[in-house]
Amino acid sequence: MEDNNKNSRRKFLDKGIKLGIVTALGGIGLSKIVNKLNAKTDNSTGEKVELMTTDGTLIQVDSSEVVETKQANEEDKKYNVREGIPNRKFVMVIDLAKCKNALKCVSACNKHHYITGENAWLKVHKMQESKDTASYWMPRTCMHCDQPACVTVCPVDATFKRKDGLVLIDNERCIGCRFCMAACPYSTRVFNWSEPEYGGTSEITMDMGGEDYSPDYTGKPSVKGTPDKCDFCPHTIKNGELPHCVTACPNGVFYFGDKYEDTVTNGEVTLRLSKLLEDKAGYRLMEELGTAPSVYYLPPVDRLVDFKEGLDDYMKFQSVEKPD
Ligand code: SF4
Repeated sequence: MEDNNKNSRRKFLDKGIKLGIVTALGGIGLSKIVNKLNAKTDNSTGEKVELMTTDGTLIQVDSSEVVETKQANEEDKKYNVREGIPNRKFVMVIDLAKCKNALKCVSACNKHHYITGENAWLKVHKMQESKDTASYWMPRTCMHCDQPACVTVCPVDATFKRKDGLVLIDNERCIGCRFCMAACPYSTRVFNWSEPEYGGTSEITMDMGGEDYSPDYTGKPSVKGTPDKCDFCPHTIKNGELPHCVTACPNGVFYFGDKYEDTVTNGEVTLRLSKLLEDKAGYRLMEELGTAPSVYYLPPVDRLVDFKEGLDDYMKFQSVEKPD
C-alpha cells in the first residue's frame, strides 16, 4: 500500500509534462488549441486529462489529443544537461509549520546520493530567535539561486545554472578551488576532503549502473577534492519523479513544482504556487542579497506539530542512515 502511494507520489511529474504542453503553447491562444483538439475526435480514448490554461483555468480534454500536441512540439523538448528540461522552471516550497524534524528527508537524500551525515546536502536546523520565543525546525537545501554567486565566481565553469532553474556541479571539470563555497551566502556547499565513505572515488570512474558520468546523475557518488550540494535530484525529475526529500517526508513539508505552471505538490496535494505563497506569507532567505532563490519558505506559524517531539529524534540522530 505504501509503495503504491509512493509510486503515485513520485510519478506526479508525468502529469505535469502534460500540463506544460498547454502552457508552452500559450502564445498561440488556448481557444485555438481547444478548437483544434475538439475538431479531432476519431481517435478519442474516452480518458479525460486535466490541463491548466495560461490564465489558470483547469479544463478537461481527451488524452489522445494531448499526445498529438506533445509530438508536434518534440523539437522544443530536446534535453541538454547544461540547459536542463525545456520549458521548465523548478521551484521548492518548504512549509516550516509542518516540520517536526523527522529527518526522513536527510536519510533519503544521503542514501540516494551516497553521502554520510557530516557531508549531508540537506540539513535540518533547530531555530529560535530568542530564548523567549518559540523554537522550530528548518530544513535547508541549496537555494538554486537565479543569480547564483557560486556560478559567478567559478573560474572553470564547473558549476552552472540551467534554464530549468537547477544549479549543478560538474565534478569532472571542477579543480577544487572552493571559491563557490566562499561565495555562497547560504553556506550550503560541502567539500569532500577525503575519500567519501560510500562509493566515492578520487577519479570519475565510479560504477554508475552502466551510465557515463554526467553532472545530472542523481546517484553519482561523491568525488574527493570537489564540492557537493543539493542538486534537486535532476536525474529523478528528468524521469518524471519528485526529488527524494519530497517523497520521503512523512509530514508533507516539501513542495516541488514548476514556476511556469504555477503549480507545486508535496505528492499528496497539488497547489497553485502563487496562491500558496500569498495565502501563507511565503518568503525567501536573504532576499536582500539579490540571489533570487528558487526555494521558498512558509513561516512556522500555527504549527501543526509539537516541537518537542522532534527533539527526541534530534538526540537520537547521531549519524544518518547509511546507504544499503
Ligand atoms: Fe550557489 Fe549557494 Fe545559491 Fe546554491 S544557495 S545556487 S550554492 S549561491
